[in-house]
Amino acid sequence: MTVYDALKKQLRRAPRRWLVTGAAGFIGSNLVEVLLKLDQRVVGLDNFSTGYHRNLKEVQARLTPAQWQRFHLITGDIGDLPTCRRACDRVDYVLHQAALGSVPASMTDPLGCHRSNVTGFLNMLVAARDARARRLVYASSSAVYGDAPGLPKVENNLGRVLSPYAASKAMDELYADVFGRAYGFESIGLRYFNVFGPRQDPAGAYAAVIPKWIDALLAGERVRINGDGRTTRDFCYIENVVQANLLAATTPRPEAVNQVYNIAFGRRTTLNSLLKMLRGALATTGTVLGAQAPVFGPFRAGDVRHSLADIGKAKRLLGYEPTHSIEAGLALAMDWYRGNQSRTGARGKRKRS
Ligand code: NAD
Repeated sequence: MTVYDALKKQLRRAPRRWLVTGAAGFIGSNLVEVLLKLDQRVVGLDNFSTGYHRNLKEVQARLTPAQWQRFHLITGDIGDLPTCRRACDRVDYVLHQAALGSVPASMTDPLGCHRSNVTGFLNMLVAARDARARRLVYASSSAVYGDAPGLPKVENNLGRVLSPYAASKAMDELYADVFGRAYGFESIGLRYFNVFGPRQDPAGAYAAVIPKWIDALLAGERVRINGDGRTTRDFCYIENVVQANLLAATTPRPEAVNQVYNIAFGRRTTLNSLLKMLRGALATTGTVLGAQAPVFGPFRAGDVRHSLADIGKAKRLLGYEPTHSIEAGLALAMDWYRGNQSRTGARGKRKRS
């Protein structure tokens, strides 16, 4: 039995109270779903800036009425300390996901990024500390590696950050670290690498590459690649990220706490190969796609060129064992993508055999 299997068994036996911030977003709603399926009590906090009520409705539809009853939603902003205090009331663990989660959005609006990602983060640390939560696990990002040369990325080798978003996540790590030393407050930072899966928003200027490209392919549009297509990413399926959060929240090992960890699958894929994989995965669902070549555009400001994680630390100290490769994740998520094309664009060119 893996460490994660044993943990799930133990949580079912002795349910806890969890706070998930960003609960209506992509990663947050997946955390809420898994926790409720494990019969936990869950408080969700979200301001619906990039999250959706429909994500939570989808979670509800996948649960029993008794499981859904254990969920309580607070609509509010982490920029407001009293709201954070209310959300932290009597919780055992905080899984902090709420943030402006986009490099280009932070380039356009650095102040908005700072408000949610730094001030909001600090509010959550203060509220969780004062409420005597056992631990806060928070979403950091591979963006903190910035221009550090060398692959794979190892936790201690940081470069200069390349965007306000990356700076905000680096600051979160600093604050979490100092709350450990100054107040004895327990936290763990998870540096996510390009997460994908159901409920990741395909719409909007800042959509992530996988849902955006699937959306374009299904709509019969040409895929737009920023750069020459040889940019690489370590794509990580959402179930691996959920596993990492639960392990980090509950690890009993003192040496594992007040640390940061890479959370990824540990393999890199070029954007050109990703496009081939997406076309292949869609073809297996019977979707007939046009043969248009992609359009290559300029590299995007603030983006790093190559990304690959060394996940040895998370394996060693947390017992993290990613279960889903990019291919396995795409196969699982494809039905969701096909049923949830962007609701904003003009559609209708989709053909199915
Ligand atoms: P998302 O936009 O789907 O979810 C973020 C959620 O937080 C949304 O529901 C949004 O409404 C909410 N939110 C934003 N600001 C808030 C505020 N001030 N108060 C309350 N709620 C607020 O994004 P996601 O992909 O689920 O990302 C979750 C976390 O993971 C973020 O911290 C992001 O920076 C981090 N992350 C994500 C990835 C990825 O590949 N998706 C990679 C690295 C890091």
